[in-house]
Parts: sequence; C-alpha cells; structure tokens
Amino acid sequence: MPVTTEPLSQAGPPIIPTLYDTTLRDGTQQEGISLTVEDKLRVARTIDTLGVAFIEGGWPGANPKDTEFFKRAASGELVLQRAMLTAFGMTRRPNADPSTDPTLQALLAADTAAVCLVGKSDPLHVDVALRTRPAENLAMVASSIALLRAEGRRVLFDAEHFFDGYTRDPDYALAVLEAAAQSGAECVVLCDTNGGALPNRVQQVVARVAGLLADRVEIGVHVHNDTDCAVANSLVSIQSGARHVQGTMNGIGERCGNANLVSLIPNLKLKLGLNVVSDDDMRRLTHVAHEVAEVMNLTPNGHAPYVGHAAFAHKAGLHVSALARRADLYQHIEPERVGNSLRLLVSELAGRSTIVLKGRELGLDLEADRQATDRVLERVKDLEHVGYTFEAADASFELLVRAETGLLREYFRLESYRTIVERREDGQIVAEATVKVWVDDERLIGTGEGNGPVDALDQAFRAAVCDRLPQVTDLNLSDYKVRILDQGAGTGATTRVLIQSTDGEGEWDTVGVSSNVIEASWKAMEDAYSTGLRLATERDRASVR
Ligand SMILES: [Zn+2]
Repeated sequence: MPVTTEPLSQAGPPIIPTLYDTTLRDGTQQEGISLTVEDKLRVARTIDTLGVAFIEGGWPGANPKDTEFFKRAASGELVLQRAMLTAFGMTRRPNADPSTDPTLQALLAADTAAVCLVGKSDPLHVDVALRTRPAENLAMVASSIALLRAEGRRVLFDAEHFFDGYTRDPDYALAVLEAAAQSGAECVVLCDTNGGALPNRVQQVVARVAGLLADRVEIGVHVHNDTDCAVANSLVSIQSGARHVQGTMNGIGERCGNANLVSLIPNLKLKLGLNVVSDDDMRRLTHVAHEVAEVMNLTPNGHAPYVGHAAFAHKAGLHVSALARRADLYQHIEPERVGNSLRLLVSELAGRSTIVLKGRELGLDLEADRQATDRVLERVKDLEHVGYTFEAADASFELLVRAETGLLREYFRLESYRTIVERREDGQIVAEATVKVWVDDERLIGTGEGNGPVDALDQAFRAAVCDRLPQVTDLNLSDYKVRILDQGAGTGATTRVLIQSTDGEGEWDTVGVSSNVIEASWKAMEDAYSTGLRLATERDRASVR
C-alpha cells in the first residue's frame, strides 16, 4: 500500500498523542445542532467505541441540559468503557474566592475524574473581556487549578486565544501556561480559538512552547477551522511536539467548525504511523462518523475524506481493467481500513469489464455469464438514453444486475397508486395518497398524508406494508433531488429523481426517470425500499448465524 510514514524527528519510539473529543461541548456550538440529554448520552457511547482517551461531556452549570447530562452520567447511566469523561468550565471570576466560585462548584458537582478548565492567555482578552489586570488573570488560573487538584481532579488547561496572545505578548502567554503547569495541570492546551492561524505559524509557536515546557507538562492543541486548516494545524502541532489533540466528530463546531477527528485519526495512524487507535477501532470510523451525524440530524458529507460515500468512488471507464488488477494504484489507502468501501460508478462509457467488476463489488460473479453481462450493458445503455444515470445510483444498478441474472427477490409488487393535491380556500396545501400493493399473494392498501404528493405516497406505502414488512420503519429517505432533463420541453420535460436512503447502518442511492415527477419519484422510492428490505433481510440472516 502507498502509505507514507514520515518519522518524527525525536529519537526512540514515537510518542502516541492523546485524543480528546469535544463533540458534545464545542461541537454542539454549531448553528442548528440541538441535542437532548438522551442524544448526548448516545453520542458519548458511540464515540467511546473509537478508543479516544477523553470525551468532554459539556459545561456543567452553564445550562440545565449539561448539568443533567453529568448528573445522569454519574448515576451510572453512562458507563464509558475506554474514554475518561471530562467536564469543561472556566477559571474563577476576578477577585473571587475559588472555594465559593459557582463555576468551579458546578465542575466539582459534575463528579468527573478529569476537568478541562479554560482561561485567558491573550492580554487583550484579559483587559477587554475579563476587565481585570494581567496579574489577577494569572492568579485566577493558578488558584482555580489548585482547588480542582486539591479535590482530586485531573486537570487539563485550555489556553484560550493562545496563538493570538502569543503573537501579542509571548512572555505573558507563556506565563499563563507556567501558572497552569505549576498549579498542577497535566496538560496545557494551546487554543486557536479564532481559527485564523496557518500551519507555518502554528508549527513555529508549538515548537517554541514545546522546547520551553514539554519536559514539565504535556502540550496539547485545540484548533478551529476558520482558514480550513484545522486538521493541517493539528498535524503540524503533533509533528512539532504536541502530545494531545482536541477535535470533534465530523469537524462540527461553531462557525466553520473544529479540527475533524474523523480525518485526524487516520491521518495520524496511516500517514504518520502513530497508533492513536487500534486497527479494529479504525474500522469503525465510517460507522461512528455516520451514526453521530444521524443522531445530530445532519446529512453525512458524501465527499468527506476517508468516510464519505464518495471517498473511494471511481469513475471506471478507461482505467477499469487496471483498477480491477490493482485498486491501490487509484486510491491512497485501502478503504476497508476505515470501514469504508470502494465504489465503481457506472456510466455510458462503461464497457463489459466495468459491469463485471461492478458485479464483483456487489458479490455477483458475472464473468462466467457473458450473456447476462451483455443484457446488463444493453439495459444500461437503453436506460441512459431515456435519462437514467447510474453513477449516483448504485442501488438501482444493483437491482438491474440482479434482475438480469435471476437474483432479484421481489418483496412487494405495486398494483396502483393515486395522489391528490388540494389547495384549500385558506391557501393550505394538503396531499393525500393511496397505494395498492401485493406482498406475496396478499393485497394491501394504505393511505397517507404528507406535505407534498411524494411524501404522501411514501406514507401510504409504509402504511400498506408495515405489518408484513416491518423493516420499512427503519428506512429513511434522507435526500431527494429532482432534475429536469430537457429544459426546452417546459412542463412536459423528463424528470430525473435521485433518492438517498439510510437505515442507520448503510446508505444507498436510487434513481427514477419519467415525464411525470410523481412517477419518477415512485420508481426511485421503489428501488430504495427494495434495497433496504434486502439489506435488512441479509442482516437478519447474518445475525441468526
Ligand atoms: Zn473551541
């Protein structure tokens, strides 16, 4: 495999950096994300399976939800197998007694073994935000950490706006780190809170700080992504002496997000040779990234490095035979190492070998059956001629191959459907649908309402089959795209509908084409249901075994 390992400059075996996940605290600052306590507990359990060292649960005392999260975690509702749960909070207020400071009291009440405390390291922020003197800020850092240490907590110190502070006044920024280290913080975390730094600057600063302090305290980094360099900045930090790195799942976070742990983990492990997680753990990466996104009601980014649906998708065409022989020539890692898989995109350019290879990817041996391969090729060409495209519709292509090779199992058969859209006098739009469908020799009828005819059709189908095919309740149509193909024809144009579906485990894409948008949608939905039902059946069979 073309894995490049750049050895670190230090002599001896490389020191493995510690991973610190702040999805549940910094990540949830992202616009539009709102998690229930239940969601937060689930996300924590999911991330725990990756083998990170710390999971930051939130800021107890800052909002009732986070306070409840820690309360329920402490009561035994959250048992992390591998990570240490961490509570986050701020240093005491200026000129206050740490032992009565409400923030510190809330942190102690959260009852976690470790605490991450944030404090100012930029003198301008001390002046403008805290409205206090630089010396008092140092005392706030020192006395807050000392109190937490006296209460038996492990303490990590987030030096907020460190890179800006270091640029403004390096001696003061370093004095803040010194105060934290001397008071018992085990790690000082240099934060690029504004996310405006570039890798060369981060490298200089981290190397300088590590040179001065690394023999006494661990150096960490926490960077935001406002220059789209958060992952790069984290990597150069590790290469410059940092031993602790903070980030979030899928890079979520305020503004442009935080360093993306989902990219950092394989970069550290596969590119820098630092075994931050085990091989088995990394094979869960795609699944964990998608599950966390789903719980947060975010559509997983298809083009995300390593874990995206398209991260290892190849337009076969000319390279197909070489791709079949040596897939590693066309991709930077084996996708299975991060739990992803290679995908071939079928297009009109496709020849026999693409079809054969695609069949192999789907677990179907087409090599032996030349006639079936030719039939598939003919069907693809005919369908592409009327507006189908299979490049972004793997699942529909698979159904086509199965149909031509006698491997198609029919879970249901449509008899008819009807949709009605009514615009009422008051302007309200109501859509209703009726679906008549056969499952084996049973005729089922369902009705549904929705905010549009396609939604109503989906509801009606589910209502019709849910008793006979209960697995449909796990299927979600996560994305729906409509494209008008021959614009010149106006409202009589051909419509292509692409649907992405998920059952929480996998995701698949289907396509439908018709001059009628409802019919195009139905075709794509029909393929989506068939695929989901097949996957559910295969999983049931595997779990029985
Ligand atoms: Zn942050």
